[in-house]
Amino acid sequence: VSASAIRADLATLLGAESVLPDVPSHYLVDATESRGIRGRADAVVLPETSEDVARAMAWCYAHGVPIVPRGGGTGFAGGAVPIAGAIVLGLERLRQVRAVEPLAWRMHVEAGVPTAMVRRLARENGLFFPPDPGAAEQSHIGGNIATNAGGPHAFKYGVTGEWVLGVEAVVPPGELVTFGGPVRKDAAGYDLTSLLVGSEGTLGVITGAWLGLVPAPETTLSVAAFYPGLERGCEAVEEVISSGVALAALDFLDGGALTAAASSFPGDVPEGAAFLVLADADGSAAEAARVRDDAVEVLGLGALRVDAPSDQKSAAAIWSWRDGVSLAVTARHGGKLSEDVVVPLERLREAIEGTLEIGARHGLEACTWGHAGDGNLHSTFMFAREDEEAVARAEAAANELFSLAVALGGSISGEHGIGVTKREGLALQWPPRVLALHGAVKHAFDPENLLNPGKGL
Ligand SMILES: Cc1cc2nc3c(=O)[nH]c(=O)nc-3n(C[C@H](O)[C@H](O)[C@H](O)COP(=O)(O)OP(=O)(O)OC[C@H]3O[C@@H](n4cnc5c(N)ncnc54)[C@H](O)[C@@H]3O)c2cc1C
Repeated sequence: VSASAIRADLATLLGAESVLPDVPSHYLVDATESRGIRGRADAVVLPETSEDVARAMAWCYAHGVPIVPRGGGTGFAGGAVPIAGAIVLGLERLRQVRAVEPLAWRMHVEAGVPTAMVRRLARENGLFFPPDPGAAEQSHIGGNIATNAGGPHAFKYGVTGEWVLGVEAVVPPGELVTFGGPVRKDAAGYDLTSLLVGSEGTLGVITGAWLGLVPAPETTLSVAAFYPGLERGCEAVEEVISSGVALAALDFLDGGALTAAASSFPGDVPEGAAFLVLADADGSAAEAARVRDDAVEVLGLGALRVDAPSDQKSAAAIWSWRDGVSLAVTARHGGKLSEDVVVPLERLREAIEGTLEIGARHGLEACTWGHAGDGNLHSTFMFAREDEEAVARAEAAANELFSLAVALGGSISGEHGIGVTKREGLALQWPPRVLALHGAVKHAFDPENLLNPGKGL
C-alpha cells in the first residue's frame, strides 16, 4: 500500500484531522537520537478516541501495514522509532482524565495523559502516584506502562506496573478490550494485565488505565552523603540497607558523574568527593525525621560530609539537580550512550567498576549513576556527537556491558526496556525454552507481527 493510499484511507476512517499531511521528523526519533537511531514512516496517525485506535489497527491489520505506538517519545531504547517503516500511531490526543476518585484511591486516565499530570492530579487530591521517571513532563502514562518505567522512589514504592490496576488496550486484529479494572486485586486467570505492562507496543496499543494511588506522605526529607571513593560509597549503600533503614529512595553518583554535574549542585561539593549517595525519607513528619536521622547516622560512617537539610525546599532542590545529571553528563562531550543494567545489590560495586574498565578498553570516558537501592545503574559512555567511530565504539562497549550485567546475575534492562538498542539482548540472559515461550506470547497476540516490528521483543 502506498503512503498516499494509507493516509487517504485512514483520513476517511478517522477524519482528516487525525492523519498528518506529512511525517514531521520528530516522529522518527526518540531520546536515542544522539546515537544515530532514526526511522522512516509512511504516515503519522493521531487518533482522538480508543475506538479510533481500534479502527486504525483493524485497517492496518487488513492491509498488512505495521504500527508503531508512540507516547511522549522520551524512550531510551528506540522503542518508538519506526525502524521498519510503518504508521506511527501517536497517543497524544488521548488525554482525557476519565475519573479521579480520591475516596477510592484511584484514577482512570487515557494513555496520552502526561506522567507529570497524573502525579499533579493525585497531589491536588491529597494522594500520591509514586512512579517518578525522569522525563515526567514529556512522557505519557501509556508509555510508562508500556516500558514499566521506574524512578528513584521505585526503591520503596516499586515501578509503574505495581500501580496499574487495569489496562484498556486495542489488540490485533483491532479489538478494544480491558485487562483488569478498578479493582485492587484480581486472581482470575493468567495475569494478562501485567503482560501488557512492559510490552513496549508489541502486544497491543494501550489506550487507557486504572491507576492505584496512596495517601501522600506528609513530609519528605533528603540526605546527601559524600565519600572519598567508590569502595566506601558502596559499603555505605549496603550498610544502610542491611541496617533496615526504610528509605524511600537511595540513589548514587560515581566520581565521573559527580564531576560532570558538580557545578550546579545546590551548595558546594566537598574537596576530594568521588561518590555521592542521595537518600529520601518520607512519611509522617515524625517518621520521616526518624528515618532521616537513622540514615544520617549509618551513611555518616566514613563520609567526607553529610548534608541533611531540615526543610523540604532544600530537599526538592537536591532532587531537581539530580534530574539534570543526565544532561550534565551529555554536555561533557556532546553525546553519550547510557544503558540501564540492573544487578543484585551486592554486585553494584563490580558493575560500576566494570563499566569504567569497559569504557577504558574502548578509549571512552565512562561514568555511572542511578538507583543504588535497586542495583540499577545508568552506565554511560561519552563521545563527541559527530564522531561516528566513537559512537560505534560506545555501541560495542554497551554490548560488553550487557554481558557483564548477565554474568553478575543481573539483567540487561532495569528501566528502559529492550527496543532496538538491546535487540539481541534477551538471548544473553534467557535459555532457549524461555525465549520460545516469550515468542509464543507475541504470536498469540500479534500473529502477523505488525505491532512494533523489528524490536528486540
Ligand atoms: C531525561 C530523561 C529521563 C528519563 N528518566 C527515566 C527514569 O527515571 N526511569 C525510566 O524508567 N525511564 C526514564 N526515561 C526513559 C523514558 O522516559 C521512559 O521509558 C518512559 O516510560 C517512556 O515514555 P514515553 O511516553 O515517552 O514513551 P515512548 O518513548 O513514546 O515509547 C516507549 C515505548 O513504549 C511504546 N508505547 C508508548 N506508548 C504506548 C501505548 N500507549 N501503547 C503501547 N505501547 C506504547 C512505544 O512503542 C515504545 O516501544 C528517561 C528519559 C529521558 C529523556
